[in-house]
Amino acid sequence: MKKVLGLKTLSFLLSVLFAFGVWAKDVRFDKFKDHTWVRGEGEVTRILEDDLEPPCHQRFIVKDSRDKTLLIVNNIDSWSRLEGVKVGDLVEFRGEFIQNEKGGLVHWTHPDPSGRKKGGFVKIKKSAPETPQEPEEEVVLPAVRREYRAGGGPISERIAAPVNEDWPETGYWLSTNSDARHNKKCENYRKTRGYPCKKSEGRPCGKCGG
Ligand SMILES: [Zn+2]
Repeated sequence: MKKVLGLKTLSFLLSVLFAFGVWAKDVRFDKFKDHTWVRGEGEVTRILEDDLEPPCHQRFIVKDSRDKTLLIVNNIDSWSRLEGVKVGDLVEFRGEFIQNEKGGLVHWTHPDPSGRKKGGFVKIKKSAPETPQEPEEEVVLPAVRREYRAGGGPISERIAAPVNEDWPETGYWLSTNSDARHNKKCENYRKTRGYPCKKSEGRPCGKCGG
């Protein structure tokens, strides 16, 4: 009996220490200053869809202990996705804070590919227990950039193939095989193997001017 009481007291003391540790590291998101490098942690409240306009970003929202929220924007083109992140997880991050009308976002959550800057990071500090029923919006999309891969053959025959309708209309299409960028008027637009892109990507198509 005495032993059981001892264990209980020990676990109570440990939980107090743990709680103190969390409190001691508490960082308020509303204290972050625009365009500065920040470090903090927060509980994931929502997983958003990836931003697939290159450079592609993984996006999710975290809150601090005062329920101030922050958008984490994690580049998955030049760095890797934070795998398995879900609502309820405690996430630690370092990156550049950018203020916006909703509070702010933190990007640059990865090391500097050129090695010049210190860069940032994002990691799961404590995973929330798995819940059997997760809302659909919490599903994490695969890490690979989705490409249109339908058939070979002449362009006209590919039109019937399923194009990824949920892709954003950026107005430009990058053909992966040729690195050519097409505009909306081009017969190759959303028809070749590739993905939606920005005007600054690839090289202009010889036919449509990109
Ligand atoms: Zn073209």
